[in-house]
Amino acid sequence: MTEVFKGSFTQQEPIPDEGIAAALEVMRSGRLHRYNLAPGEPGEAAMLEQEFANHVGARHALAVTSGGYAMATALRALGVGSGDRVLTNAFTLAPVPGAIASVGAQPVFVGVTEGLTIDLDDLAAKAGQARVLMLSHMRGHLADMDRLMEVCDAHGITVIEDCAHTMGAAWRGIPSGRWGKVGCFSTQTYKHMNSGEGGFLVTDDDEVMARAVILSGSYMLYERHGTVPPEEVFARVKYDTPNVSGRMDHLRAAILRPQLRMLEDQCDRWNARYRVVEEGLRGTPGLTLVERPEAERYVGSSIQFLLLDWEGGAVAEVIRRCAARGVELKWFGGAEPAGFTSRYDSWRYAPSAPMPATDRILRGILDMRLPLTFSLDDCAQIARIIRAEVGAVWQSRAA
Ligand SMILES: *Cc1c(COP(=O)(O)O)cnc(C)c1O
Repeated sequence: MTEVFKGSFTQQEPIPDEGIAAALEVMRSGRLHRYNLAPGEPGEAAMLEQEFANHVGARHALAVTSGGYAMATALRALGVGSGDRVLTNAFTLAPVPGAIASVGAQPVFVGVTEGLTIDLDDLAAKAGQARVLMLSHMRGHLADMDRLMEVCDAHGITVIEDCAHTMGAAWRGIPSGRWGKVGCFSTQTYKHMNSGEGGFLVTDDDEVMARAVILSGSYMLYERHGTVPPEEVFARVKYDTPNVSGRMDHLRAAILRPQLRMLEDQCDRWNARYRVVEEGLRGTPGLTLVERPEAERYVGSSIQFLLLDWEGGAVAEVIRRCAARGVELKWFGGAEPAGFTSRYDSWRYAPSAPMPATDRILRGILDMRLPLTFSLDDCAQIARIIRAEVGAVWQSRAA
């Protein structure tokens, strides 16, 4: 019997009823723009900001149009601009180098370890080249944040965190997004809360927040925000900070607020699925699992494993055989960027010296989404299919 998986790897859960009701309410009001408020009404956008800031324990949160926008805004608010160099992960997704390029700066790529986190030795070696690190917690893997901050502090490097895959995650109990000067989050459909498009920036720094609010397009209505730095800080920055519109609207905020209340439970549900797949794959010959450190609280909304040092043809054969049985694997070793995978060497606007140790890891990374529409039985079945197909190719390769 060859079982075939029938589920969809891109099917998320519906928006909760409470969010749908709140969205209808906003539409009936006609007041969708975040600064369009009835007398005494705080508005969904400002309430969401307050709630998100409380959730991660930050002084400030700013809701914006996307995660990529949040990252570019963080860079601008820190004064990064034309010709500056910004350290970032070689293993990440295109919006990360894209955010750096969007302010006229140049990414300097730092390698990846077998744990799929930024290589801290490579970071230390390149630390002299930039004053900002755009740290991408790619696919939810958190580096040793204590050591990372030590390296950055020692070199005077300011850290921006890309938490697109770590909303709800923490290192040693401190939430991701709270280690660096600024944390950036995405609420795009495939992330941990879904408003189609959207994002947040969080910070404790009044000046960074004041600049970010004005950058996002505040029309000087900044006192209507959920968390507001003192007036004198705005007075200092408002005349020389451009408006680069990227505001969140009440409609998206309305559907996000109930999702934020559910986030902890959703993270537990993702992790239950992750553990079923992980256990199902454990001990598969030729397959390396990414073991999660004790200090990491992760959110298993996707899972990665390595077919380390396999030749490309054999990896492609595993992907083909799994796909034929309904299991969609993404490969970071493919020569061409495709469907949410891409590699530092495909971003030709940001040339990089070759990184052989990183290339070896990238060639082996297979990646799979675990949407909450999958049941635990689905996850067990997916693991059985991968195990069987990796095993079959591994054996024919040995023969
Ligand atoms: C999705 C994503 C982003 C950006 O989010 P958008 O809201 O799509 O702009 C940033 N970094 C990573 C790693 C992502 O996956």
